[in-house]
Amino acid sequence: MSDHSPPGAAPESWRLRADIDLAALRANVRALRARAHGGAGVMAVVKADGYGHGLLQSARAARQGGAAWLGTATAEEALALRADGDTGPVLCWLWQPGGPWRQAIEADVDVSASGRWALAEIVAAARAAGRTARVHLKADTGLGRNGCQPADWPDLIAAARAAEAEGAVRVTGLWSHFACADEPGHPSIAAQQAAFTEALAVAARAGLDPEVRHFANSPATLTLPAAHYDLVRPGVAIYGLSPSPEIGDPQDFGLRPVMTLRARLAGVKRVPGGHGVSYGHRYTTPGETTLALVPAGYADGIPRHASGGGPVLVAGKWRTVAGRVAMDQFVVDLGGDAAAPGDEAVLFGPGDRGEPTAEDWARASGTIGYEIVTRIGPRVPRVYLDDEPAGREPGQVSVQGPNEGERP
Ligand SMILES: *Cc1c(COP(=O)(O)O)cnc(C)c1O
Repeated sequence: MSDHSPPGAAPESWRLRADIDLAALRANVRALRARAHGGAGVMAVVKADGYGHGLLQSARAARQGGAAWLGTATAEEALALRADGDTGPVLCWLWQPGGPWRQAIEADVDVSASGRWALAEIVAAARAAGRTARVHLKADTGLGRNGCQPADWPDLIAAARAAEAEGAVRVTGLWSHFACADEPGHPSIAAQQAAFTEALAVAARAGLDPEVRHFANSPATLTLPAAHYDLVRPGVAIYGLSPSPEIGDPQDFGLRPVMTLRARLAGVKRVPGGHGVSYGHRYTTPGETTLALVPAGYADGIPRHASGGGPVLVAGKWRTVAGRVAMDQFVVDLGGDAAAPGDEAVLFGPGDRGEPTAEDWARASGTIGYEIVTRIGPRVPRVYLDDEPAGREPGQVSVQGPNEGERP
């Protein structure tokens, strides 16, 4: 193991760490590729710092697992992939007026337009760069978020066709996004599929011939082969989480959670019965007991909503957060059991070593597994297991320390 201690600390003096199992990430991408219908490729979504797992490490592992495309929300994320040397197809889809269109076009990043204003900015940037922009046009087939409404779609298509004729753009993709794919059988799913079929027909009649059509997020990748088209666009599934417990557990789909969050106890003490615990005294010891201090708090991304409910594996047993989660720490009641400062507390992991999962934390906090992993903050070092960058052997460990951001 390499040293993941803060500067000045003894080796192995870590407080809280997120182990990132890159072999699992690669295997998850391979499993999703195998599931993709009719030879559809995989666009691995690595937005939001790879859902908290690390943008660049996740992107490299996804490529190694066979992701033909990478997807990001922001242009900055896409440009960071290019700065890291990634030369494969990349799409970024969340734009605001005045965004770095020209940098994206010059970096061969595919951009997305959901309306005329965006297409106009793309055309202007392409002209200024003297390049042809690669553009995906996004249809709102019912999500009601980003995307072009059906009433405005023919106009957007016509404008894109004209920009193609001028050489300013090439429409490389047509796409949309589901609202309720995590609720199989929801009537909006079939309605959105019908709307997408119509949007594609409008584009085809106008003469557009995109390289890829794509629609399926993780839940649709796992449950709806008819929506796979040329590319599936999974995010949370590549990190080994199920999009919802209703659809199934990760292992039902051959997926394995990538992140394990562990802490080392910062204190253990005997206290008498009737002792209040943490801010607001929302927990009182029922009798004389042992309290253990877990040095992880909401500043690290532990939800305060998990106060009184978040599960932790300590000394082989599941314990529950006693009282409130504070900014940097929370307490668990060990009952009659012994533990020592420095002992390990596992907050979540794959779940097959007795530890809770991110899904358990989601349930305890009234949220979804996506939010649990994505919230883990920059103060928590990511420790990469089985990293496989060029020139290194698999099986080695590398560390992304706190505050060593890799953003451009
Ligand atoms: C985040 C996102 C995805 C991935 O969604 P998952 O549910 O994590 O698979 C796909 N497409 C778009 C447009 C997204 O914003």
